[in-house]
Amino acid sequence: MTEADTYEVMAIRYATRVTSRREAFYRYESYHQPDAPLRMDYYFWLLRSRRRIVLVDTGFDPEVGRRRGRTVLVEPLRALDRLGVRPQDVAHVIVTHLHYDHIGNLAAFPRAGLSVPLPELEFWTGPYASRAQFAEHVEPAEVAELDAAWREGRVRTVDGDEEILPGIRAYLVGGHSPGQQVTVVAGDRGPVVLASDAIHYEEEMERDMPFAIFSDLAGMYRGYDRLRELRDRDRGVVVAGHDPVVMERFPGLGGDLDGVAVRLG
Ligand SMILES: [Zn+2]
Repeated sequence: MTEADTYEVMAIRYATRVTSRREAFYRYESYHQPDAPLRMDYYFWLLRSRRRIVLVDTGFDPEVGRRRGRTVLVEPLRALDRLGVRPQDVAHVIVTHLHYDHIGNLAAFPRAGLSVPLPELEFWTGPYASRAQFAEHVEPAEVAELDAAWREGRVRTVDGDEEILPGIRAYLVGGHSPGQQVTVVAGDRGPVVLASDAIHYEEEMERDMPFAIFSDLAGMYRGYDRLRELRDRDRGVVVAGHDPVVMERFPGLGGDLDGVAVRLG
């Protein structure tokens, strides 16, 4: 890896909603804490090196998000436009899992390389994807699109711990979704551990409080262990997938990106 393979890493917040602690954390009553409103923000991540532009997930399709009652702050493609990124400039899209809020808008990047966790493709095209507790979290048309791309050989499948591109490593942790991926990026300012939905909120990892939606509860706890390991090993910063604290903890980009994009590394 050379200096050209370190990245400016940004989180882009494109949508939001208000939920509650009781809804967000699995069996919240077991902690004997009061319920309270909880903001859930929606992000995707932009990596920019001297050589290439990479996206980690692509947010939800604005129409799909509105239908599901989410508040769109800025449509993902418009947010990229404000950052000076045109779809054709994106060299690679890394998918962390197949939930609707992570793979909408993929059709806007037909020429980009595409990396997807193999257990995700297998699960969401398999016999249990249509069962109610799973089906709720995906858009069948979007899964079908990825499935078609996979069959056409346009998808690079990721199955385990591996380098996706110089300076970008994938770790499959499962838990939240069968092939949930954590992505570690060599940031210009140090390693950035993009947890995606391995943790929605930092609190999950800090206090060992699983999120309410998962395919494997033990896998969620293993994911928290893995994130702590990655953080301690690399002295990296761990970035949760839906936590409003991300917008407070990291410097904003100002101007018309105020409240939309922050610099993670
Ligand atoms: Zn998500």
